Amino acid sequence: MAELKPCPFCGSTDVGGSQCKIYCYVCNAEIRGETTEQAAVKWNTRALTPAQQHADEMYLCLQEELELIQDAISQLTLKSALFSSVVERIVKDDELLTKARGD
Ligand SMILES: [Zn+2]
Repeated sequence: MAELKPCPFCGSTDVGGSQCKIYCYVCNAEIRGETTEQAAVKWNTRALTPAQQHADEMYLCLQEELELIQDAISQLTLKSALFSSVVERIVKDDELLTKARGD
């Protein structure tokens, strides 16, 4: 039998098939066919509900947002490292100046 897609009604992956039907163990949805294989094809080609399409689109948007946030974090990490090395140099220069003055 073909690999089953998540339940088209509730999105659960807890689905199974036997005796000419495919069913969801979570919401009890079921699709029948002439054979279990045919029921599986029907199950896998069933259109997503508008709510599921919306959820898929939201998921993609959130992934893009996440990438932007990760980019921003790595930029900040680089800037922070640069800032630390500048501070280190200033501290060293200050120590050298203090020695040179003989304080
Ligand atoms: Zn379900």
